[in-house]
Amino acid sequence: MRNPLARFRDPDPDCACHPTFECDRLLLDATDCPGAGDLAAEPACRGTAISALADREAEAVVTRTDHLERAYEGESAALLVAAGRFAERAAFYDRHLADRAEGDPLGAARAAVGRAGPVGELAAETGLAECAHRVEGYADALRPFVGPPIAKARVAAEPPPDATLAETRNLATDATVRVYEDESALRTYHLEPVEHAFGESALAALARAYELLAEGNVAAGESAPGRAVRQVADSDAPVEALAAALHKHTRGYGVLADFFADPEVSDVFATAPVGENPIRVTVDGERMRTNVRLTDSGAEALASRFRRSSGRAFSRASPTLDAIAAMEEGTVRVAGVTDPVSDGPGFAFRAHDATPWTLPALVANRTLPPTPARYSRSPSSAPGPDSSPDLAVRERPPCWARSAGNSRPPREP
Ligand SMILES: [Zn+2]
Repeated sequence: MRNPLARFRDPDPDCACHPTFECDRLLLDATDCPGAGDLAAEPACRGTAISALADREAEAVVTRTDHLERAYEGESAALLVAAGRFAERAAFYDRHLADRAEGDPLGAARAAVGRAGPVGELAAETGLAECAHRVEGYADALRPFVGPPIAKARVAAEPPPDATLAETRNLATDATVRVYEDESALRTYHLEPVEHAFGESALAALARAYELLAEGNVAAGESAPGRAVRQVADSDAPVEALAAALHKHTRGYGVLADFFADPEVSDVFATAPVGENPIRVTVDGERMRTNVRLTDSGAEALASRFRRSSGRAFSRASPTLDAIAAMEEGTVRVAGVTDPVSDGPGFAFRAHDATPWTLPALVANRTLPPTPARYSRSPSSAPGPDSSPDLAVRERPPCWARSAGNSRPPREP
């Protein structure tokens, strides 16, 4: 029950995001909001999210317009949740600071830390102080995975923090690859697909063109994506790039086409649960992490496609798959696993190689856990495929769980 002493915050006139909860996620429909749900750049949208989280906690915050989705997870979500928790509880002692925590949680944390008394204690107890301490500003603190809704993957736009750029190259799909190194064991293969350089109007045109295709309002055929784009695009729109992006996401394999456009990439691994595990790649024999992850719906769409092309059930009764995907970039061998041996669909893709995947090979590359029978959806079950050291950073508990003596405090009644 909501604390009757808590203040009821008026909606910010600068934000028209509409919050709802879906399972453990807070969704902000930002379709009509001038801030477009950009939580790093728009304090008003940030306030709407944190105000909603003061009522109910969430594992992730997702904001959506009709042409762009931003998913704030992990440490980004932890900061927003901690701020909501702080705003809710601190309002009793200092209403002004509680209000500030919604639009400017980093500023509120700085103001609260070092204060004697309950407000300073709440900053520590709620995890806000710890979350705020480790970041330099909102661009650093709130780093979403972004992508147009039509994509099967989401991409973290910002490079990894404290990393050094080692190499840049451009791919045939007009994607840009930057390789970063930091103190961790694996280097990062940072992919920027061409559509991530599109402006708002181009992204809106991409979404409208996709609708035309999906509704069957364009004559079918190989050039349908191009026709759809030309029906909706302005004369100054990047028509060819839009058509190529729409083709990639509807006829092609989306972000996989970008990865395999790199002749040095031999393997792409999407480990289940795909929504939580960034894709890993092998580049000229070197394993790297990436800034990309499949969406759950994207993984399901791939599973359906491979089911059709292989004629295999790929279901609970037959949870493994060996298939061939004909991409423009060449033939790619696909190994898939799904429930009950993994937590939803997971895939290993190998370029230019006709050797079928074997179970030991899938265990070795961590597409499949070593003890599938013990691996279930319960997070407290046996170590899954991600307990290896190179994913240890992601496995670190969110910052609220690491704050002193505080493991997810119960909500105020
Ligand atoms: Zn907004």
